[in-house]
Amino acid sequence: MRYSALQIVKNGLTGNRDWKPVWRDPAPGEAYDVVIIGGGGHGLATAYYLAKTYGVQNIAVLEKGYLGGGNVGRNTTVVRANYLLDGNLEFYSQSLKMWKNLSQELNYNVMFSPRGCLLLAHDDGQFDGLARRGNANLATGDDAVLMGPDDIRAFTPYLDFDNARFPIRGGLLQRTAGTARHDGVAWGYARGADLRGVDLIQNCEVTGFKIENGALAGVETTRGFIKTAKAGMAVAGRTSQLAEMAGMRLPVESHVLQAFVTEAVKPVIDTVISFGMGHFYISQSDKGGLVYGGDIDGYNSYAQRGNLPMVEHVAEAGMALMPMLGRARQLRSWGGIMDMSMDGAPIIDRTPVEGLFLNGGWCYGGFKATPASGAAFAHLLATGEPADYAAKFRLNRFETGALLDDEGTGARPNRH
Ligand SMILES: Cc1cc2nc3c(=O)[nH]c(=O)nc-3n(C[C@H](O)[C@H](O)[C@H](O)COP(=O)(O)OP(=O)(O)OC[C@H]3O[C@@H](n4cnc5c(N)ncnc54)[C@H](O)[C@@H]3O)c2cc1C
Repeated sequence: MRYSALQIVKNGLTGNRDWKPVWRDPAPGEAYDVVIIGGGGHGLATAYYLAKTYGVQNIAVLEKGYLGGGNVGRNTTVVRANYLLDGNLEFYSQSLKMWKNLSQELNYNVMFSPRGCLLLAHDDGQFDGLARRGNANLATGDDAVLMGPDDIRAFTPYLDFDNARFPIRGGLLQRTAGTARHDGVAWGYARGADLRGVDLIQNCEVTGFKIENGALAGVETTRGFIKTAKAGMAVAGRTSQLAEMAGMRLPVESHVLQAFVTEAVKPVIDTVISFGMGHFYISQSDKGGLVYGGDIDGYNSYAQRGNLPMVEHVAEAGMALMPMLGRARQLRSWGGIMDMSMDGAPIIDRTPVEGLFLNGGWCYGGFKATPASGAAFAHLLATGEPADYAAKFRLNRFETGALLDDEGTGARPNRH
């Protein structure tokens, strides 16, 4: 069914009885041309583009829980393209372009809201760094506006500008960046893939790989063996565990990242703001909650919940930036498992096992990447070659030293 205003009127007048489930619930088949492991944003987007762009007919997405129950439904929804290094620049630029048209592309409202994203600088060195980053964005064809303290006072007057420790010296605004509805993105891609015949199989965990003479022959799952010669891993925080089942050790660690939301308040923040002196960022949801987050918890974990020291740390950073936050009551907190790569950039590549492909290492930043990641992974799976805008996300960069360390902080996941 194609969603339209006419369908809303028609169904509204006939008791809303004609709406169909957004996707089918098929049992696993015996064999598929391509199996995608992980029904998060990246796995679903990959299946969608494989079917739509490359005409692959016989595809399954295997999800161990429910579609969208992982990081895609747990993130703080910031979408931006203000990276610094070649490799990241062209990839996130491509992704932002795809966001602009995503609701129309999927015929599903992903509520992309280009409300701007402001990175703050609190000393001269940081301000120079933002100027350099902004120039890189302009040179890539994306927008960037360098702002002085007066511009920022006019734009976001509720910040604490003269905080003794972290006075605000300036900032970099990307006006076309913003937020989107996270589970809407998963549901939109799921619906689009299902409409093109992809089997979306929930409660189906991959527990092993059958590898014969170095090539993939199938996957073991909690719902039986599935034959396939081609599979793509898109399991975010479970990347290193899944790769281990295929005999690989990856430069990826799993850490918890928490996020928080306050009770709904009247509109106050009409953009996304990132604090330059700590890993704190905040926006306001369409329901009115102030949504914010910060650093990863400082230890490896597969738990989808965090710990209190990080709650305190994030609250401190928030209060330093925006003291009025202290008057809002926090409603909820939650966590997701991040696939932290050693340079902060992702991997979209083949693996040493023929027919087995890897999409992972997204760190904090994989939500904004969803459209381009799905399209690039589909390209790789269908053609065997990387998409030009994802050509630098190779696994061998950790051997050659050609790292994509946008933050310049080295192999320290908590600094990315
Ligand atoms: C609190 C938080 C805030 C964030 N904020 C932002 C942000 O503002 N902007 C941004 O760009 N990014 C953000 N991110 C990061 C972003 O959410 C992730 O990088 C991105 O969603 C990861 O890709 P995914 O959607 O495919 O992952 P997921 O949704 O986690 O999908 C992976 C799926 O694989 C499944 N799976 C795992 N193992 C198996 C198995 N063996 N068999 C079958 N299925 C399996 C999981 O159940 C899961 O559904 C944030 C993340 C968190 C947790």
